[in-house]
Amino acid sequence: MSTLKVLQKHQPKNNVVEEVRALVDETVSLHWVKAHIGIAGNEAADKSAKEASKKPTTDIHLPLPERSFKTQCKQHLMVHWKSTWEDEKNTKGRFTYSIFPEVSRSRCIDSRSITQAATNHGFCPSYFRRFNIKACTFRCGEDSSDDLQHYAQFCPLTSHLRNKIRSTHSLRHIITNRDTSKELIAILNYVQENEGEIFQQED
Ligand SMILES: [Zn+2]
Repeated sequence: MSTLKVLQKHQPKNNVVEEVRALVDETVSLHWVKAHIGIAGNEAADKSAKEASKKPTTDIHLPLPERSFKTQCKQHLMVHWKSTWEDEKNTKGRFTYSIFPEVSRSRCIDSRSITQAATNHGFCPSYFRRFNIKACTFRCGEDSSDDLQHYAQFCPLTSHLRNKIRSTHSLRHIITNRDTSKELIAILNYVQENEGEIFQQED
């Protein structure tokens, strides 16, 4: 019920309404106005209401319903995310970009190991060197890239753990396919637990 209707009632129970009634005499008439925007009196009332509030900032005027506002916000964020992700000048996350060039709200990686594989921040010699953790190489001597993909797909030292992962698979396939991603996690765990058997210290 609008405040005006409440004010017209004979016995209003709301204290604020009673106060307003007490302030208003016959020199003041009350009128319902269709919309707030553009009506001088209403604008002034809005202004006073804002000043009276204790908020440090003024309210945002939403020219559309809350739900549409949320939808538009999401759309704007998606556009921003996409343009940033696809920006040729962007130097961040390019390894992940090479695997997932398109943005997606449904993609969700919740495994620490899979995150390592998808970001190239994995448990492997190239990563250790890049972040000055230690200098080592693969014991098998078969790889020069020293990355996680080597023992995930190619290394003879982990071949006994590979049933689903093939050397022809893309990293994207391994990460997104349920069986191969499970296997990848198992291989990563194995390498972490048997580090000394897979990596050798460099002099
Ligand atoms: Zn190897």
